[in-house]
Amino acid sequence: MSEHFDIIIVGGGPAGLTAAIYARRAGRSVLLLEKEGFGGQIASAPKVENYPGFAAISGAELADRLYTQAEGLGARIELEEVLSVTDGTIKTVTTDYGTYTCTALILATGMKRRTLGLPGEDTLRGVSFCAVCDGAFYQGRDVAICGGGNTALQDARFLAELCRTVTVIHRRGEFRGDPMLVEELEHTANVKLATFAQVTELVSEGGALTGLKIADTRTGEVTFLSVDGLFEAVGHLPEEAIPRALGIAGEDGFLPCGEDCITRLPGVFAAGDCRSKEVRQLTTACADGACAAVAAAAYCRKA
Ligand code: NAP
Repeated sequence: MSEHFDIIIVGGGPAGLTAAIYARRAGRSVLLLEKEGFGGQIASAPKVENYPGFAAISGAELADRLYTQAEGLGARIELEEVLSVTDGTIKTVTTDYGTYTCTALILATGMKRRTLGLPGEDTLRGVSFCAVCDGAFYQGRDVAICGGGNTALQDARFLAELCRTVTVIHRRGEFRGDPMLVEELEHTANVKLATFAQVTELVSEGGALTGLKIADTRTGEVTFLSVDGLFEAVGHLPEEAIPRALGIAGEDGFLPCGEDCITRLPGVFAAGDCRSKEVRQLTTACADGACAAVAAAAYCRKA
């Protein structure tokens, strides 16, 4: 027979782990399932400087603290991939390891990486999606980062301490990330901010990246930049498989529900970046985790 929990949470990022903390404090039995690694996107952030109470903390440490707190409160946490969810008064969650049932389900599935879609992106040595993971391989070398959000800017600051030169390539004139970070990078000697610029081709030799063709997005003029590494930080897309299977995903793949995190399926809640909303930040992910857990615990009490 499948093991039953009051609440199953899918996703071990800040939203899911916060939901686990609140659900346990509400006295509910909790199973949290995560397929890859705990902490979500924040786990690879070199330095988080906008989480209240911590002037600066590494993303990995923050993720570790969230995990430890949730586990310490008695949440069962498993590294298992959810393969399917069946809706009903009692919901069934099947993973690559087993089957569980629950009264309430919180989807905190976050987002998956967006890529540039260029030939060689997945196969060439020298193309990376994680500066914290791979930065050390580029010590003293020339690298580029593609993207204009906080991930790209934070990666640039992190890589500037390791690499000879860092070029941030952004397709518009204005950065999406924090102006404070942009200003800091403008004053960092080995960082160049290349705006109105789009990577159009990965140039390689013997399976390794040697440079980039970059088009000026205003004039179309193409130039060549010699680099040893490219870090892609071009944002994310919703993880839509489970919401689509349950028939509750919006057209854009996000879960349409308000700040109460209640979806249109009874007993199914959405928290964090997978929810339709304006502001996707660590703090708003945690806020969603709290709201979803409170709503899920209330649902369990009435069920
Ligand atoms: P993001 O804010 O969505 O930025 C993605 C960037 O990639 C944008 O500048 C976008 O350009 C660019 N882009 C998208 N598709 C592209 C393409 N095909 N070609 C070239 N450029 C492309 O993503 P993010 O930087 O990963 O950040 C995600 C969220 O996490 C944000 O809310 C961010 O603030 C947050 N975050 C927080 C921290 C923290 O320390 N608290 C750290 C990292 C991230 P456009 O601007 O032109 O659209």
